[in-house]
Amino acid sequence: MKYAVVFGAGGFIGSHLVRRLKKEGYWVRGVDLKRPEYSLTEADDFIVGDLRSSSVVRQALQGSVDELYQLAADMGGAGYIFSGENDAKVMHNSALINLHTAQACVECEVEKVFYSSSACIYPEHNQRDSMNPKLNEDSAYPAAPDSAYGWEKLFGERVYQAYTKNLGVHIKIGRLHNIYGPQGAWNNGKEKAPAALCRKIAEVEDGGEIEIWGDGLQTRSFLFIDDCLDAIRALMKHEAFCGPVNIGSEQMVTINGLANLIMQHAGKSIKIRHVSGPTGVRGRSSDNALIYACLSWQPKISLHEGIGITYQWINRQVTADSGLQ
Ligand code: NAD
Repeated sequence: MKYAVVFGAGGFIGSHLVRRLKKEGYWVRGVDLKRPEYSLTEADDFIVGDLRSSSVVRQALQGSVDELYQLAADMGGAGYIFSGENDAKVMHNSALINLHTAQACVECEVEKVFYSSSACIYPEHNQRDSMNPKLNEDSAYPAAPDSAYGWEKLFGERVYQAYTKNLGVHIKIGRLHNIYGPQGAWNNGKEKAPAALCRKIAEVEDGGEIEIWGDGLQTRSFLFIDDCLDAIRALMKHEAFCGPVNIGSEQMVTINGLANLIMQHAGKSIKIRHVSGPTGVRGRSSDNALIYACLSWQPKISLHEGIGITYQWINRQVTADSGLQ
């Protein structure tokens, strides 16, 4: 039996990943500041601990760990990482986690490590044209991310790459692009656009109004959680290919278009009021040429299908929250 450890196992992607690894027959230890909020963890062992502490990191990696998935980070949606208000803590918290993790992987002889980097590492100047963003892996340098979060992710990549070069850590790096699905943050200030829009639309009556930050013409692509897990697992299983590689969707949509799609699923017609707020770059979409060439991976779930599943889940949370059930 293979032994896996998931850092960030109380979070959105981490809790789904634990479930996936259990289904595949792994023994799994989860580690996080908190247990998953929307389901019981399926991990065999769950340490509630702070990974900014090197002793917690070392304790979590005791035993012979075949695979570590490093997903723990101080992060959130645009309101959290693009407002600038949390920059110091985002950099401090996540850098500490990654520095201790890389070092402990050597000391504890972890076989293989997945690091969750982000589309936010890409230069801002390549994402000014909403219809034609440039995000192939090679375009990361010269570096010019538009957020402290992006800089820290790039720093994290460099930390693990240095540990690979000098100390033999077997690292795999995926640059995740806007992952969404059920059981993610939806109402705590850390939610991202799909969850935030699903919540707003679920909360208003047919004919009502919601607010969108910016003019809504900024573009993004969104990847459903199941597709993301398939890509992470394919990367980890591959003998030689290590990335960094994009894990995202190439199906670009404007934020207004995303809102309209959610309205269709909700069966509501709702007015959009555009207000000022943090929006991030103008255009962003994954470039999947490399991942397709190396892992033959491409998303299976369309935005239409994935948003339908996500809206149903968030609508149930909103209904339960407002005591209407
Ligand atoms: P999430 O916020 O739901 O999960 C991150 C988890 O890390 C949280 O449960 C949090 O409690 C935990 N954590 C934070 N600080 C910690 C600490 N000091 N000690 C222990 N645990 C700590 O986020 P997610 O969406 O599941 O993202 C997982 C990873 O993927 C993150 O590294 C994130 O930066 C990266 N990523 C996610 C997306 C996305 O669209 N969701 C996109 C790009 C990159």
